[in-house]
Amino acid sequence: MRIAILSDVHANLEALEAVLARADEDGVDATYVLGDIVGYNADPVAVIARLEARADTTTIAGNHDLAATGRFDTVWFNSTASAAIAWTREQLAAADSHFLDALEPTAQTDVALLVHGSVIDPAAEYINNAMKARDSFDAAPFSLCFFGHTHMPTIFSSSEGVVRSDALADGQAVALNPANRYLLNPGSVGQPRDGDPRASFMIYDEQTRSAVVHRVAYDIPAAQEKIRAAGLPGALADRLAQGR
Ligand code: ZN
Repeated sequence: MRIAILSDVHANLEALEAVLARADEDGVDATYVLGDIVGYNADPVAVIARLEARADTTTIAGNHDLAATGRFDTVWFNSTASAAIAWTREQLAAADSHFLDALEPTAQTDVALLVHGSVIDPAAEYINNAMKARDSFDAAPFSLCFFGHTHMPTIFSSSEGVVRSDALADGQAVALNPANRYLLNPGSVGQPRDGDPRASFMIYDEQTRSAVVHRVAYDIPAAQEKIRAAGLPGALADRLAQGR
């Protein structure tokens, strides 16, 4: 089975469509969505509809999805993020809110543990260094965990208690050693923050235990125009072009 791993779509329909087209070109069998479906960008309703309709998709909630349905306090958000959540709430129909409200911030599939933030705090903790990764390795006996939230394509490995961290480059295939444990982050579909503005996602091949991050160009000006037309903070449009 080949699985497309998507995270942090953040209501960016142009980026999502580009990523799903690329995933389907590669013939994936299933899709995991690691949360933060909404927030920041201007297409929450269309993005929810697209993911809800997609076959063989396992979706968990991120802190922005929880905030959009009142399950996470926006006091923890900066002013730009909370303005986007307030705007998002106004867009959602009851069925959209219901979809988000039914999501949990963690799931266990036959293949891997899924969390948005970390194993310890699935909604909101950032695994952004080896110490944080070690805490998550220690918190549960998984061999493979996919996570998001940092918007950075990253691999953490644990081999006999030694935790290593590496950034994942476009097209770089990583073969997972069955003797080791892994935390893998596919990067962000809708708001990349590693300096590369292209949408980021991962394809995991269960048979060969290999993971590859793909960066996909999409229509950034169209997404920016929608953000500005919606009256969302202009900084949210500007950052898409910078990948920051
Ligand atoms: Zn996010």
